[in-house]
Amino acid sequence: MSRTLPVQKNDILDIVFEDLTHEGSGVAKVEGYPLFIPNGLPGEKAKVKVVKTNKNFGFGRLLELQEKSPYRVEAPCPIYKECGGCQLQHLNYEGQLLVKHKHVQDVLERIGKIDAVVHPTIGMNEPWRYRNKAQVPIGEQEGGLIGGFYQQRSHQIINMEACLIQQEENDDVVRKVKEICQKYGVKAYNEERHKGELRHIMVRRGLVTGEMMIVLITRTNEITNKNKVVDEIAAEISGLKSIIHNVNNKKTNVIMGDITNVLWGQETITDYIGDVKFAISARSFYQVNPEQTKVLYDKALEYANLQGEENVIDAYCGIGTISLFLAKKAKKVFGVEIVPQAIEDAGKNALLNDIHNVDFAVGKAEEVIPNWYKEGNTADVLVVDPPRKGCDEALLQTIIAMKPKKVVYVSCNPATLARDLRVLEDGGYKTLEVQPVDMFPQTMHVEAVAQLVLSV
Ligand code: SAH
Repeated sequence: MSRTLPVQKNDILDIVFEDLTHEGSGVAKVEGYPLFIPNGLPGEKAKVKVVKTNKNFGFGRLLELQEKSPYRVEAPCPIYKECGGCQLQHLNYEGQLLVKHKHVQDVLERIGKIDAVVHPTIGMNEPWRYRNKAQVPIGEQEGGLIGGFYQQRSHQIINMEACLIQQEENDDVVRKVKEICQKYGVKAYNEERHKGELRHIMVRRGLVTGEMMIVLITRTNEITNKNKVVDEIAAEISGLKSIIHNVNNKKTNVIMGDITNVLWGQETITDYIGDVKFAISARSFYQVNPEQTKVLYDKALEYANLQGEENVIDAYCGIGTISLFLAKKAKKVFGVEIVPQAIEDAGKNALLNDIHNVDFAVGKAEEVIPNWYKEGNTADVLVVDPPRKGCDEALLQTIIAMKPKKVVYVSCNPATLARDLRVLEDGGYKTLEVQPVDMFPQTMHVEAVAQLVLSV
């Protein structure tokens, strides 16, 4: 027989919000049973109605706020609720940084039983207009091109003129490109019928250099009135360095397809993080908030505490960003990354910066690094920056066997960070410090970097 739940559907309750979910919903507990309620903030008291119950958690609707959080504000963006790209605009920035700090601390304690200093989140001075990249889906409404975002949990495109976390120049460019495509009769892609032409407009802007790239992603190999469209875009947009055409003729949510051609200008734009220069192509991964990326990498470098004599491994190195940062202070850096194109970019970036004490290898970190170790190679410092799912167990076991003196763990997901730190602690490491860095203001995402030392 199933246990009776402490709440039933349609119950009306007085609750206190304790926490936030990853989607930014408030969490309240009734006799330990969590209820997720949109728009509630930690510390707030409210009257709520239970709308759905599952075995281990339920959902509710906020009826009345009885006590407001001192951090609550009116969300500045007019389309905040429909869009879903941001989750924390109704919380002021001070409150956001506190929530992220508490989240990292709680998760490390609960999931990893990790007892380490978690520093206050490092935020931005100006937590708006930070993104360097926009990827805008294009649709049609009453014969005109619209572009903006998919409405939450749907594939309905809503038009958007401004995105408050996007660099303002990107908004302007998207608007102009939409107008120009409209003027020359470029049709929008229709997802349901898999017909039409223009699927997405992507814009990327170098924060330091101001260089811009526009990518037109189409289903078709041809673009209607291509030359006129390209000439007018090139004439209209200042700072433009590159117009790229990418063809994606598949029925898929993946934005880019396999064919990429330069329509105008260069194949790449450049940008700097600190004094390291990067060439960025249409397909390369590049952090979307370079200002905070610098803060994060500086912290990683500080935690690595290099003296110039160390061999360093940078696992999950992408286009070599962290590797090149570390190379200036290390004897040698070995980067490993699964995407061959990223490793190609990493090699080019090393040359661009005249950095020669780095080597990059393509492959899975959990296969390449154990092989290196079997061949007798070790590292003094090992840096990992894995995707959300965290490090593979085989990699963690190799780290434990290899015994680098320091491990620096850069993480975009506190839950897998906590899980992996526990494995490393059981294997003889001690987590000394953890620094959350706010790379994505107004959203629930948080990055953190942890410093571990060998303690046995
Ligand atoms: N350190 C880089 C990239 C971090 S993102 C930066 O800061 O820019 C994580 C990277 O891990 C991605 O580039 C992804 O392609 C790569 N990756 C994912 N799984 C991997 C695996 N099993 N082995 C090696 N790299 C992997």
